Amino acid sequence: MSNLFSYYTQVIFIIFVVVNHFVEIYLTRRQLETYEKNALTPPAEFSHFLTNEDHQKAIKYSTAKLKLSQWHLIYDAALLMYWFPFRGAEKLFQIFSFEGIHRDVMFLVIFGLLQFLFNLPWSLYSTFVLEEKFGFNKSTPKIFIIDILKSLLLSGLIGIPLLYSLIFLFSALGSWWWVASFALMTGFQFFLIWIYPTLIAPLFNKFTPLEEEELKSGITSLVEKAGLNAKEIFVMDASTRSSHGNAYFTGFGKKKRVVFFDTLLKQLQNSEILAILAHELGHMKLKHIPKSMIASIAMSFLGFWLMSFLAHQEWFFKGHFMKFESPGLLLLLFSQVIPLYTFWFSPLSSWISRRREFEADAYAAKETNPDDLIQGLLKLYQQNASPVVTDTLYSTFYHSHPPALERIKKLESFKGKSS
Ligand SMILES: [Zn+2]
Repeated sequence: MSNLFSYYTQVIFIIFVVVNHFVEIYLTRRQLETYEKNALTPPAEFSHFLTNEDHQKAIKYSTAKLKLSQWHLIYDAALLMYWFPFRGAEKLFQIFSFEGIHRDVMFLVIFGLLQFLFNLPWSLYSTFVLEEKFGFNKSTPKIFIIDILKSLLLSGLIGIPLLYSLIFLFSALGSWWWVASFALMTGFQFFLIWIYPTLIAPLFNKFTPLEEEELKSGITSLVEKAGLNAKEIFVMDASTRSSHGNAYFTGFGKKKRVVFFDTLLKQLQNSEILAILAHELGHMKLKHIPKSMIASIAMSFLGFWLMSFLAHQEWFFKGHFMKFESPGLLLLLFSQVIPLYTFWFSPLSSWISRRREFEADAYAAKETNPDDLIQGLLKLYQQNASPVVTDTLYSTFYHSHPPALERIKKLESFKGKSS
């Protein structure tokens, strides 16, 4: 019975690898066609804001990125086939002749390093060839290497003790290990989100409080209305790596902050900065971080429960081409294989994210002039060479932000209603 089950699982796994990647390539092709159809001029709604030249640059840049991502998708599918049906992961596990907790941790660390190395050519090409070609890259080989060393060190310092703890709980606690592991992971996630803005992000970038005299009074009133402290608005030196611009909000409790990329500030008028700040404050005011944390805690609870069930199912391991069973392999399967099955939920999570963007826009439109946010957003599109056109189905799967046209139409509907 178990053998039949593992055989079916193997077939289902391979079907998912093939179908998912075909679907992703199909979606990419649809997006490429949309770009091709709109290659010369932006839609009429954008003709006052966007020059044909800017539009064409955005289309060319995004087309080049998508074409690269198509090859990356095929490469990823091949890697998955290597690790599982061709039993690469199983062979790697066999290399370690010793038993127990050290073997599991060592195996996961080496697996992680190998995955990192396999992906390195892609990020090198993307940074130093593609981004460079379109004039976005500001990083140097030195910065690139230092970034890699810092991230590896950080992942080791954080990841290795965490892996030891998870695998220790698995072997020490018997059938209730998953509750303890879930509690550990949840506490750990809170800790990471808490230390990220003040301890981790500053390892990579410089953050300075936004001190623009003319902006001060505008910021103070917006920030006070949202129940925040003006000291929590920062500028990040994004220009050391790339000329792309952005703004984001992060953290919770006393550690929350709004961050502007210096690259974005350079492009914007003060009124547009305030409108974008109002959008970020909208995310905060509407508690979008706590809401997504609750959702991710619930998912993780479900995930650990599922893990505890699958931990002792022979068919689950054999079905994913593993003749061994161990907590390390269980963690590997969960991190590598489960995303294949949850891919089909991405339209749902993208939809939730897009809805939140609309909510934050509505907040900004109420607190500032909608026209300023429209102008600010269009500058963001222009600065990042993001095309204002998109294929609907592609957007449904991948876009965390609403399509430009929808977003701007919605903002225009708020005109005259702001305070
Ligand atoms: Zn947003």
